[in-house]
Parts: sequence; structure tokens; C-alpha cells
Amino acid sequence: MQLTCEACGETVAAEGPAPRARCECGEPLWVDSEAFDIGGVDLEGVDLDDRMWAFDDLLPIRSPGGLAAAVGDTPLVRTSALDEYAGCRVRVKDESAHSTGSFKDRGSAVGVAAAVDAGAPAVGTVSHGNMAMSTAAFAAAADLPCVVLVPADISTERLANVARFDPQIVRVDGDYGRLYFEALEAGRERGIPFVNSDVPLRVAGQKTTALEILAQTAPDFPDAIVLPVSSGGHASGAWKALRELSAAGYDDLPRLYLAQAAACDPIATAYRDGAEEVSAITGEETIAYSIANADPPSGSRALRAARATGGAVCSVDDDAIREARDLLAVDAGLNVEPASATTLAAARQLADRGALAPDDDVVLVATGSGFKERDEVAVEAPTVSLSDVDDVLSSVDAS
Ligand SMILES: *Cc1c(COP(=O)(O)O)cnc(C)c1O
Ligand SMILES: [Zn+2]
Repeated sequence: MQLTCEACGETVAAEGPAPRARCECGEPLWVDSEAFDIGGVDLEGVDLDDRMWAFDDLLPIRSPGGLAAAVGDTPLVRTSALDEYAGCRVRVKDESAHSTGSFKDRGSAVGVAAAVDAGAPAVGTVSHGNMAMSTAAFAAAADLPCVVLVPADISTERLANVARFDPQIVRVDGDYGRLYFEALEAGRERGIPFVNSDVPLRVAGQKTTALEILAQTAPDFPDAIVLPVSSGGHASGAWKALRELSAAGYDDLPRLYLAQAAACDPIATAYRDGAEEVSAITGEETIAYSIANADPPSGSRALRAARATGGAVCSVDDDAIREARDLLAVDAGLNVEPASATTLAAARQLADRGALAPDDDVVLVATGSGFKERDEVAVEAPTVSLSDVDDVLSSVDAS
């Protein structure tokens, strides 16, 4: 396997169980597409029964079976009730259908299987959210020890879903942003791959979200895909998928729009400023905690992805995220994470600005499930006696 840098063009061989993740220039590496049978890609002939492995000609490994074989082929749901609010024709790619409830399973499946193939003694990750849960689950299924590095001040409550898979959880005192890079380096020396959010193998697996959307819609591709963005790993994968399809001869590929929470939006800030590179910001709290990365390791690459595909990066505030999250549930029956609801809020904003047209076909990527949350919802539910149930039903509002 060869790795290449999208920014400077440098190519390096992926060596050992824990290959390099960063280029000398500082930018992230990704898996070189040269080794793939790009010319053989036939989106309409793809058998999605094989789930994400339907695209294994474009992946660095074959399906290892087991839990990994259950990843992908998530539903693409037409949600016409949301069209008016969004200002365009909406479908939702429901990544919550995955076993740990987020698209991270696509990257974990590839990263953990590659670690097993390479004979790594363990696999690691730096996360306290969906990525930690997902990596731990796939390591458990592969019977591979897993190390999860979390910030020292994290509450035990937030770790419960990660601890369920029994990885070694270690609280680390110090700069969490730096830990991301130091864990990669320390792991490399010990042959322990850290499948962090934008490493080449995770990005390789996560590019199948976009490949699947295009296979599910071929030959009538959507006009746009809206994706919540944090580290920029998923956005990099989506862009890589589009680049590979373009090399395979496909055109009229969708524009890539990236959504951030206004309280922590370094990539949207760089986009608005017309900057070439994303700089770290001081982020504030947001309900979209899964996308609150103030110093994204693949931020600049994500910025280039939005620009190169004719899309944009935008940010939406927490009130807009709350409203969008409620509408996704009430009008479309989808319980998504606040991070995922940014996509609907962003589509509305983009339509308002004229970047999306009313007849544009737009796919919102619901990256994660809302079922993991224990948030405070004011629930209206009166108590009646058993003998009153009939009365209650007779007064159900049928309007
Ligand atoms: C990780 C995550 C994201 C952001 O993905 P990046 O690859 O870090 O940009 C978005 N939504 C959810 C639910 C996530 O778990
Ligand atoms: Zn480089």
C-alpha cells in the first residue's frame, strides 16, 4: 500500500503495522488510488448486498467477515416533508443504522482489520465519543486488545458506552489536541496503529459513505451532499470518493457542503475569510459535541474538498441545530445526533442564500444516532386511570 499527500504530492510506502499518517509537510496522508482498479468501477452494477465491501476494489483490504461484514448499505431515505423547510429536495443518508450508531464503523472496520492482518499487538484511538465506541467494538469483535485515550477531566458517564466493549481506557492529563499526534507517533514505535479520525485507513473506510450514496442514486446523482465536519476525516473520504469516480469517467458529481456548529467552526471561519489554510480557534461549547474540534487535523484538506467540488463550508447556531433536530424527528421519524442535524440547518441556510435551488436533489448525511443521548426533554404525558383509556382514545386529535 502506498500513501500520498494531497497537498504536496509526496508519496510514501505504508510500512509495518502502524504506518505513517502525516506527510513531512504537515498535512495528512491518504491511501494512494494508483493501486485500485478505477477503470473497472461500475456504480450501477454494484451489489450493495455486500454492503461497504461492494467497493473493495477501491479499498486497501478485503472484507474480514464477522462484524465488519455488517457495515454499510445504510438507508437513503426520501424525506419530502422536510423539503419546504430545507428549501430543496431532501434525502437523508441514515448512518445511525450502524451497529455502534455512526458512520465511524466504516473506518473502524478497515482500520481494525488492517491491524489484525499486519499482526499488530493492539489497536488504539484518541476519542471519547463515537470513534472510541466504534473502534472498541470492532477490536472486541476481532479479539484484538484496544487502548482508548481520553481527556483526564472526562465524566465517567460519557464513557459508559465505550466501556461496554471493555477496551483499556486511559485518562491523559495534558493538551488533548497534541495527544492526537503524540499517540500516533508513540503507537508507530510500538507497532500499535492508532485509528484516529483522519488516518489513511479510517479515511479509506469512510469514503464508502459517498460511494454508497452515488451507487444508490446512479445514474441520477444528487446535486449536493451536506456533511457535518469536525476533524475533516469524513469529508476527506467523501472528496476522495468523488475524485476516484471522476477518474473512472463519471461526471455531474455532487457538490460537497460542510456544516459546522457556529460555536466551534474553524473550517467555516477559514472558508469565510478566503484563507488557504485552517487555523486553530478557541472553541465554545455546543450541543453538537461530536463536531467540536477547534484544531482539526484534516481541516485544510476539508476546506479544499468543499472548494474543489463547488460546495461551501457553513456554520449554524445551536438554536438552528435544535430546531432542525426536532424537525428530523417529528417530520421524518429520524432521531439523529445534534451534530447530524447541522446538515438540515445548513441546507436551509444555503437555500436562503441561493446556493441550493428548490429543485436541487440534496443528500443530508445523518452521521450519528440520537438514541445514545440522555438529554432533558420536557415530555408531556398525563396520567389517567385504566377506566379512562377509552375516553382518551375518543378524544385523540385526528386533525
Ligand atoms: C465523528 C463525527 C463527525 C465528524 O467527522 P470527522 O471525520 O471528524 O469530520 C460528525 N458526526 C458524528 C456523529 C461523528 O461521530
Ligand atoms: Zn505533503
